[in-house]
Amino acid sequence: MTGQPERLDHFMARANAAYYAGRDPFADFITSPEISQMFGELLGAWVAVVWGQLGRPAPFVLAEAGPGGGTLMADALRLLRHVAPACHAAAQVHLIETSPRLRACQNAALKAATPNPVNWHDGLASLPQGPLVLLANEFVDALPIRQFVRHGQGWAERFVQAGRFVEQAAVLPPTHPALARPVPDGSVLETCQPALDFVHALAARLQHGRGAALLIDYGYDAPAWGDSLQALRAGRPVDPLRDPGTADLTAHVDFASMAQAAGSVDVWGSVKQGDFLAALGLGARAQQLARAVPAQAQDIRAAARRLAAPEQMGRLFRVLGLSVGVAGLLPGFAQLRAT
Ligand code: SAH
Repeated sequence: MTGQPERLDHFMARANAAYYAGRDPFADFITSPEISQMFGELLGAWVAVVWGQLGRPAPFVLAEAGPGGGTLMADALRLLRHVAPACHAAAQVHLIETSPRLRACQNAALKAATPNPVNWHDGLASLPQGPLVLLANEFVDALPIRQFVRHGQGWAERFVQAGRFVEQAAVLPPTHPALARPVPDGSVLETCQPALDFVHALAARLQHGRGAALLIDYGYDAPAWGDSLQALRAGRPVDPLRDPGTADLTAHVDFASMAQAAGSVDVWGSVKQGDFLAALGLGARAQQLARAVPAQAQDIRAAARRLAAPEQMGRLFRVLGLSVGVAGLLPGFAQLRAT
């Protein structure tokens, strides 16, 4: 049986819900916090500085969207406990995670990391009121996309049927910044409404309670087209349309559109992950760790290069900052002014 054609975003949402509910993502791909503790530590330092710039609110909501194994938050909280104990004590940890399986992993990872209870949410809407500092690494890339294909003067939309793409006439033409210029015939245009909805809601939440957020992901900051849907299994690319639920489906993140969706909050970047981590002191932290554990010095330097070198994760990965009520420049974006 071949089944009905399923719109790509519906297919992707279903595949990823099954994937994150049933599999260990870190058998299939590796993310920055899993590469090195330095990533979460630098974000912990970022949280401490931003908390100071917000006037040291106590309590405040320290949230993460899509926390995976909980490693980033555990590393950030350990750093806070050592260097900013008042911030650590004030942080009420709230995690946005839909997978019950990953919630259990996060619970185990964070048990001893904070004296305060850890809370879970399905989305932003149920976070408590008040000042918010939110982190999200490789969360947006897993949100479901639609793909439109240019044909002549019109558009078709991609659906999935029996493990293959089929096209149907698009009911609505896509709206996308790349459409400011003519799009060549056969081009694929991707849209991700859930990402824009998330940023829109996050910005409204920041307007209401003050705070700042970092969205870190792989993607592009200029209008672009092209099919970026990919699936990884055991570190290798596989056909994203086959065996839904057995591989992680992601797509490049459109940072320019997300910045636009943020509306009137202060928007920072996006900037390259390499520049952002360098500005937060990655080089100094790597040296410090290498001196402390000489036997691992080579691995530590290799991890720092992997996170920040342009030919590795330093350029493709980007960081977008949002803030309201933060005094001065948002850390890591020193080269920018808020737009
Ligand atoms: N941030 C982690 C994990 C990235 S994997 C890291 O850097 O290692 C993507 C994460 O987002 C997983 O925790 C997954 O369960 C979660 N996720 C994916 N789609 C989601 C959604 N729609 N709502 C909430 N969480 C989601």
